Amino acid sequence: MSYFSIDSIKDRTFDAIVVGSGISGGWAAKELTGKGLRTLVLERGRNVQHVTDYPTTMMRPWEFPHLNQMPKEVKDANPIVSKCYAFNEDAAHFFVKDAEHPYVQEKPFDWIRGYQVGGKSLLWARQTQRWSQFDFEGPARDGFAVEWPINYNEIAPWYSYVEKFAGISGNKDGLPQLPDGEFLPPHEQSCVEKYFGEQMAKHYGGSRPIIIGRCAHLTKPNPIHFQQGRAQCQNRALCQRGCPYGGYFSSNATTIPWAMKSGKMTLKPDSVVHSIIYDEKLAKATGVRVIDAKTKEMTEYFAKIIFVNAAALNTNLILLNSTSHRFPKGLGNDNGLMGKYIAFHNYRTSISGEYEGFLDTTSEGIRPNSSYIPRFRNLLKQETDFLRGYAAGFNASRITFNDRSGMGEELKTSLAEKKYGNWRVGSHMMGETIPKETNFVALDSNLKDPWGIPQLRVSVSYDDNDEKMVKDYHEQLTEMFTKAGFKNIQTHDVPNKAPGLDIHEMGGVRMGKDPKTSLLNNWNQLHACKNVFVTDGACMTSTATQNPSLTYMALTARAADYAVKQMKAKNL
Ligand SMILES: Cc1cc2nc3c(=O)[nH]c(=O)nc-3n(C[C@H](O)[C@H](O)[C@H](O)COP(=O)(O)OP(=O)(O)OC[C@H]3O[C@@H](n4cnc5c(N)ncnc54)[C@H](O)[C@@H]3O)c2cc1C
Ligand code: SF4
Repeated sequence: MSYFSIDSIKDRTFDAIVVGSGISGGWAAKELTGKGLRTLVLERGRNVQHVTDYPTTMMRPWEFPHLNQMPKEVKDANPIVSKCYAFNEDAAHFFVKDAEHPYVQEKPFDWIRGYQVGGKSLLWARQTQRWSQFDFEGPARDGFAVEWPINYNEIAPWYSYVEKFAGISGNKDGLPQLPDGEFLPPHEQSCVEKYFGEQMAKHYGGSRPIIIGRCAHLTKPNPIHFQQGRAQCQNRALCQRGCPYGGYFSSNATTIPWAMKSGKMTLKPDSVVHSIIYDEKLAKATGVRVIDAKTKEMTEYFAKIIFVNAAALNTNLILLNSTSHRFPKGLGNDNGLMGKYIAFHNYRTSISGEYEGFLDTTSEGIRPNSSYIPRFRNLLKQETDFLRGYAAGFNASRITFNDRSGMGEELKTSLAEKKYGNWRVGSHMMGETIPKETNFVALDSNLKDPWGIPQLRVSVSYDDNDEKMVKDYHEQLTEMFTKAGFKNIQTHDVPNKAPGLDIHEMGGVRMGKDPKTSLLNNWNQLHACKNVFVTDGACMTSTATQNPSLTYMALTARAADYAVKQMKAKNL
């Protein structure tokens, strides 16, 4: 133990501690330091500094030893993370490798993680949609899980707040199921994406809009973005390498350097949080136990408030591992529901086709975004035999190929000339899954990780509702593609695919109105330990269809504002 004196304890005492430096932890750090709190940010992974630690960002395709493919031996050694579409030579260094951080798959679950300063904010696809009141009302209306303790109006100003700082591009589409935000100019849709939108308007009378995705790219930076040291997105679409321009939102380019500039943040990488310390006499948390990732030495750090932002499943792990006489089942876990009601998104299935029109037009140029089909099922009324609905991605680009026939000069010439085929159209489903008690995570009673912390046991699977939704998506999208005149329509499903690859795991420490049925209140405070806040995906009561990270950002900023006010009022 590295604490010997009163001074040492003082050195290890802060106003606030944030666990994790990814998308939500970065926001907690920025908000808490911005409000004057001396804040310690603990990150289990290595430091990754904006620009200097993006080793592949300027590499050309031929400079990668395997032309950006992963060698077979790497894939064989990493069967889980290799399934992620972004796990290639250019970004593999930002992903957790299978053997390094073991977990128990009670049922198959592909857990994709990024352990470093910035977390998965270096890897994400940057799609950012607000939730609507349909989503916050979902559980109460449809009778599943538990009622949300907040509504859209309460979070809307916080969406605006984080959107302005992060920089979100999009179009104001005026859709009740996908509220507009504070948008920078939108990316353009390709002519076939626009055509599809027109056809859907004709056939479905405006109920199935096809919009450009809303995404965290600086299409036209505002002064606040230049102050962050970021520049306009250059449309390179190499984002998962880390962007040297700061063209997209990441913790590394945006919130962490901003918090650092305040002079109030202490960032400690290689610091694995083991558990939260609970003081029985004070009846509150007083700090955290941390294991040095390299030396495995344990140290304690202290603070008045603690934000747990280790990403949904790891936040569950830390809290379940935070046992005391008062909380033998995990911090704040009086009702035994912690770790339960895990939910995720269902990205299992897709559909493709071709369009034979617009053959005088190409889709040259790169766009780090695609089109989006907001949820249209079961919105105003229940119309199917499954609960909730799905959103979908949509993309159209021209098929290109080279004629490889012929010999000698003829072959060389044809190889050098790109030929264009039909337009290829494709969509993937983004389904809401229903949180259920039987989908849970727990601590394994025997197995430990290399830092002596119990391994997480994951028991999560699809259910009948998901299967029915997949079937409906196939039927509805086939109908929509047919109406648009698309040909060669093929649905693609992988029935045995494990959940997890959508990388949107949520729940386990859900928000709610009643301490008997939830762990967190409407301000993301543990009901039973008010100075601990959880604002990452663990807090989510239900999942909606939208990509979740924008909602984590808004909830974090809102909770941080509340926490500081409560602290100043001496209520924490
Ligand atoms: C390829 C890919 C594409 C994605 N696309 C999208 C998208 O388009 N839109 C979207 O909304 N989301 C997307 N996501 C998901 C998004 O990245 C996550 O929702 C988001 O990063 C979650 O934020 P977080 O703060 O909860 O976790 P993270 O960003 O993962 O950060 C958690 C941090 O906590 C640290 N940590 C964990 N345990 C401990 C511990 N014990 N002690 C100390 N530190 C710890 C981790 O190392 C990590 O740095 C995508 C993810 C991936 C990988
Ligand atoms: S598309 Fe934009 S954000 Fe992505 S790497 Fe290129 S410049 Fe950076």
